[in-house]
Amino acid sequence: MNTPKRYTITTALPYTNGPIHIGHLAGVYVPADIYVRYLRLTGNDVVFIGGSDEHGVPITIKAKNEGVTPQDIVDKYHAIIKKSFVDFGITYDNYSRTSAPIHHETASEFFKTLDAKGEFIEETSEQLYDAQANQFLADRFVIGTCPKCGNEESYGDQCENCGTSHNATDLINPKSAITGNVPTLKQTKHWYLPLDKHEAFLREWILEGHKKDWKPNVYGQCKSWIDDGLRPRAVTRDLDWGIPVPAEGGEGKVLYVWFDAPIGYISSTKEWAAREGKDWEPYWKDKDTKLVHFIGKDNIVFHCIIFPAMLKAEGSYILPDNVPANEFLNLEGNKLSTSKNWAVWLPEYLEDFPGQQDVLRYVLTANAPETKDNDFTWKDFQARNNNELVAIFGNFINRVVVLTNKYYEGIVPSPSELEQVDEETLATIKAYPDVIASSIERYRFREASQEMMNLARLGNKYLADAEPWKVIKVDAERTKTIMYVALQIASALATLSEPFLPFTSTKLKNILNHSNLDRETTWKEVATKSVLLPAGHKIGEAELLFSKVEDETIQKQLDKLEASKKANEAANKVVEPQKDTINFDDFTKLDMRVGTIIEAEKMPKAKKLLVLKVDTGIDVRTIVSGIAESFTPEEVVGKRVTVLVNLAPRALRGVESEGMILMTESEDGKLVFVNPDTDNVANGLAIS
Ligand SMILES: [Zn+2]
Repeated sequence: MNTPKRYTITTALPYTNGPIHIGHLAGVYVPADIYVRYLRLTGNDVVFIGGSDEHGVPITIKAKNEGVTPQDIVDKYHAIIKKSFVDFGITYDNYSRTSAPIHHETASEFFKTLDAKGEFIEETSEQLYDAQANQFLADRFVIGTCPKCGNEESYGDQCENCGTSHNATDLINPKSAITGNVPTLKQTKHWYLPLDKHEAFLREWILEGHKKDWKPNVYGQCKSWIDDGLRPRAVTRDLDWGIPVPAEGGEGKVLYVWFDAPIGYISSTKEWAAREGKDWEPYWKDKDTKLVHFIGKDNIVFHCIIFPAMLKAEGSYILPDNVPANEFLNLEGNKLSTSKNWAVWLPEYLEDFPGQQDVLRYVLTANAPETKDNDFTWKDFQARNNNELVAIFGNFINRVVVLTNKYYEGIVPSPSELEQVDEETLATIKAYPDVIASSIERYRFREASQEMMNLARLGNKYLADAEPWKVIKVDAERTKTIMYVALQIASALATLSEPFLPFTSTKLKNILNHSNLDRETTWKEVATKSVLLPAGHKIGEAELLFSKVEDETIQKQLDKLEASKKANEAANKVVEPQKDTINFDDFTKLDMRVGTIIEAEKMPKAKKLLVLKVDTGIDVRTIVSGIAESFTPEEVVGKRVTVLVNLAPRALRGVESEGMILMTESEDGKLVFVNPDTDNVANGLAIS
């Protein structure tokens, strides 16, 4: 493409059945926002479009489980998600939702156009039906055994165990998720998009046309889909939550969520244009518009194969220029999971780290899963904050501002003659806009963020080498030059850090009083202007940009995750079924007494065994107990215990054991004594 006239930038529509976490932010929203902020700073015409995906079966199931309406569910999470985006500085021009009337209209029209052009095929087939619920069982409404891996809890559309997608009718032993009944087969008609018909176009457009400019992970996935052979895909569903099928015979059916969701980008653009008094069409139909979809890797097939096929079939739309999908972010070595609560939720992060949105944006970008899955760790978060944001960026700015106030009452001094190092430093500043831009334009946001940090490094090193705090004592003129040059670097950073650290950039511009300049410096002017902060310009007082993250703060986050892990393990623990009943006589045969351990030592050459002397009230006897992996001998001496005293004695490694101490096990597998909950009971008392 020649230089685009305008840009349409979209981000995957988050599904409104829960809040969003760091994985979403790292994979989609922060990179998109960096790109858009950069485009705006470079003077481009850009519209940044988002919205909530509010249809689909999982929302109806969640609503059923919670006894509310699907609308209640989407209203709740749409509000939470939208607020998170505002909080983290994701600067949408419009954030809409697919339950909005404008979207229902737009998606309906889109369907009707394709239908009128004969772009669908209609087919009647047998689908699973729950007679009691009076409903067809789409996707997640049916559970059964996966035909591929044997997982007994596979969903109708996809097995979460092996990742295979299949049809609900492929499941072995299918069951209705609504009533638990075995479903029957019933005939129903659906509309299909014949993807196979578009294969030649997709082959040429992607495999030939985007060999060089699409990311290898995206290109590779597309190639494998196309090479596997494309098949017709149903665009309608038997469901009552969604956009009604606008065609004869469409009663009781809605558009399949994957069909309506990407059209949400178009309706959100329309909503924005209507509000701003603009024309939406050039943003979607003019060939000089560059359309870019930011998504995660789980969405590649929809944005690279299916949606383009829909747009092509419609006929009046442009196709995406690029789909820079990211891989997945893991958390402390494990896959992020909503159901297992293995995540850092954005609202919770803000509670724990108020005002520190930029730190998370920076860490997620510096470690973004651009080419492979990557791991977020709290240790890395702490290191990036303390060693980069605090020690380099924050330290440099703080020194510049404090010294300028101390030496010159905050007024930028006039430089005297520039030395070679000053000339070189000023020339290097001018190179940064292009260096960072080149990374951003190739969707390499990690690299771009590191170049931005390199500019801060340049400033930090310049000051450390020039040592104005020493020079001031011997050479007032030289000090002025040093501080002048350092202030130019600070001003360049205020502009160039904006896409990555928007909140910090605003703070820094305020500290440097950019608003008193003729106008705000543009990205390109950092490369072309000889002076960014002129001599005589007054700056403000120093203000803390970043603060150190202490070990205990990190430990708290790790403890939180550990608690999630334990809760999951506990939830997954199988409770043994009850044993056969016994009568009271059987029970009274057991003679259990309160006792006290009075001596303990390790059984030689046995990892698990302690040899105990126990006062049972009747006598003092030896009991060999398999508790050595949970307790040291010192820990158990003096412990009150429950002893089964009439268990037939048996020899363990040559030591006669006369009885058994009652134990249970904690969640983490450590043994726990079953003992009287007060010390005020005597040894030898019977337990009954
Ligand atoms: Zn499976």
